Amino acid sequence: MTRYIDVVNVQELASRLGVATMMTEMACFIREDFLRWEQFQKSPRTANHSEVGVIELMPASDGQHYAFKYVNGHPQNPTHGLSTVMAFGVLAEVATGFPILLSELTVTTAMRTAATSAMAAQALARPHCTSMALIGNGAQSEFQAIAFISMLGITELRLFDVDTSATDKLERNLRAWAQTGGANQALTIIRSASVADAVRGADIVTTVTADKTQATILTLEMIEPGMHINGVGGDCPGKTELDRRILEQGYLGDTRVFAEYLPQTRIEGEVQQMDVDFPVTELWQVLAGHAPGRQSAQQVTIFDSVGFALEDFSALRYLHHLALAQGVGSEIHLVPQMQDPKNLFGVVAPRSAALLRAA
Ligand code: NAD
Repeated sequence: MTRYIDVVNVQELASRLGVATMMTEMACFIREDFLRWEQFQKSPRTANHSEVGVIELMPASDGQHYAFKYVNGHPQNPTHGLSTVMAFGVLAEVATGFPILLSELTVTTAMRTAATSAMAAQALARPHCTSMALIGNGAQSEFQAIAFISMLGITELRLFDVDTSATDKLERNLRAWAQTGGANQALTIIRSASVADAVRGADIVTTVTADKTQATILTLEMIEPGMHINGVGGDCPGKTELDRRILEQGYLGDTRVFAEYLPQTRIEGEVQQMDVDFPVTELWQVLAGHAPGRQSAQQVTIFDSVGFALEDFSALRYLHHLALAQGVGSEIHLVPQMQDPKNLFGVVAPRSAALLRAA
């Protein structure tokens, strides 16, 4: 039987453990998997583009388990009452191909993205960061805020979105989360009048906007020495958030760019704006101690996040572990399990239920 985890099950897990704990634990699973990078079969995701969005398949395997995620990105979806990003995924045994888990991944993607962002910032941002600008206050934003509050000790958030109702929603959710004991530290939430206002003086700048265009959310003039930029929203060909001059070492004196998996990031990330030999360091190299992270307090570090299949592999691995430990989810007949595996016809023959073997 295949374990099935739906949105209600993830809601149940979050109410038992708390979102911050889930993201912190998920980050440990992601780190573990990044540290065994070379064991994984990796490839850039397969993307089907349309004028209004993209639908992608993201596979990864470590020789024991195989995972894939189905995910879309449709920036206009909220106007149709749908999320910009929706996802589900499967974890399977490599030895047999048997799917052991089918899971919702919309909420989980927001958690894994924020967990990865915070894990990267732990490795790349200056120590003792306290303030973060959060540009783009949509579906991903609470998760980003909570991961940075919980994993980096951020105490001040400066919010900006072109849609003020999105900022209303983020502020309301964060205040409710903090009041119900979510945050260990006092939290200051500032609504900013512009991107420049939000970014001024911030230790960390997170951009998580959605627009299928080469946007310039951050301009060179906004960037201050020592900032860490967590660029999350630019994740498709033709969809970027940073002024390309920010990426160039020459303009800011000392800038370094870090990515998840370079063959994919060169296609989808902020660095799609740069030549193919533009220097970028893969994050796993820093985590494993093979490459330096931040080299000085003045250096500007950029995590050019696009979302990589290995993070979804880790998230599915974590959910599977958690669902079994917590007794959450159900068992479903996703594929037939028969007494005689060659008698597939028996499944649809009269009295077929008798042929389905109990797990
Ligand atoms: P969303 O549509 O719910 O929210 C996006 C927000 O950005 C909206 O509130 C919108 O008003 C705001 N926005 C758009 N243009 C802006 C601008 N110029 N300035 C300020 N705000 C602006 O989308 P979401 O689910 O929160 O996703 C946000 C982005 O993150 C998407 O582009 C998505 O593809 C990307 N994403 C990346 C990863 C990753 O792993 N890197 C994972 C998930 C989502």
